Amino acid sequence: MLYRQPALLLTKLATHPVKISELRQSYCIINKNIYIQNRGEHSKAMDLNEVVKNLNQFAPSSYAGSWDNVGLLIEPLEDNKQIKKILLTNDLTEPAMDEALSLGSDMILSYHPPIFRPMKRFTSKNWKERIVLRCIQNGVALYSPHTSWDAIKGGINEWLLIPFGSLTEVSPCEQQYDSSSQKFIVSSSVNNSGESAKLMGKQELIQALDNKSLGDEVSIVKQEARPLPGIGPGRTAKLENPLSLQEAIDKVKSHLGLSHIRFALANGANLLAEGGVKSVGVCAGSGGSVLGSVQADLILTGEMSHHEVLDFVHRGVSVILTDHSNTERGYHSYIREELMKVLDNKVEIVVSKVDRDPLQVI
Ligand SMILES: [Zn+2]
Repeated sequence: MLYRQPALLLTKLATHPVKISELRQSYCIINKNIYIQNRGEHSKAMDLNEVVKNLNQFAPSSYAGSWDNVGLLIEPLEDNKQIKKILLTNDLTEPAMDEALSLGSDMILSYHPPIFRPMKRFTSKNWKERIVLRCIQNGVALYSPHTSWDAIKGGINEWLLIPFGSLTEVSPCEQQYDSSSQKFIVSSSVNNSGESAKLMGKQELIQALDNKSLGDEVSIVKQEARPLPGIGPGRTAKLENPLSLQEAIDKVKSHLGLSHIRFALANGANLLAEGGVKSVGVCAGSGGSVLGSVQADLILTGEMSHHEVLDFVHRGVSVILTDHSNTERGYHSYIREELMKVLDNKVEIVVSKVDRDPLQVI
């Protein structure tokens, strides 16, 4: 018998005779455990601020949709909070929260933001409130990248294009602007600062309005933010080697690890026609509006409404629906190693094993 816990071996030694061979094996196991523990405690950790900075370099929060709630959502009140282990999950459900705590995670990277709509209270009655309370009580930091991961090059939407092989003309469905570059020309007839007009960032302007430092009459002109070429939600692309719809469906199922998908055949299209898919559009999650104006032979997204599907098939666009998070979750295992490199391999990243789409085909 091996004693993986040193305490168990000591208890046994105190009460029973132990064979030398048994002791040797146990000693090795104990030493290995201590070595692993020490290595974890002394060399593998990163300051939370540094983790956030690096994650933001990988996918800047300013690339996310303006409506989104991304970045560091819960910051534990600890000086120099050290992060050793991150649980990466698509959705921070209560089972995923249990998993994070049982693994001893210091931080949770939840693709969907667990805090989205404003919360007015934190009680034990609502699951989302319980999750926030458990993060705070256990000193666990919470970060959500959401649409910043959809927008970047090499992000979720480009991962969704992998099953279609070599591609040309890959581009986002919408032009994205860098919200951090957004400036406002602010001029005031009774300007307390004595200047006639000045350029302000969004936060600076909000602060000035709050402080009432701009005078009573103020004119604000919004400047165009900096466009971000190649960055934005969804992707369209042309296939170098066109596929039949059936071949495309099989490749998508294999890439996403799904035995079933929902499919709507475009009016006039043929499932088996050779080379029927020359162009595609993809959007992680709910792609109805992002893909709304896309004209392609096939689109892939997680979910959309009945009426949106009817609009597409009448425009000659076939549709694959996989259920919302099945277009997102697989990216986490795909990107885990790269994310660890982004964090200088100082932080262990574990992809959740309990996270799954709530809908199943049975
Ligand atoms: Zn989503």
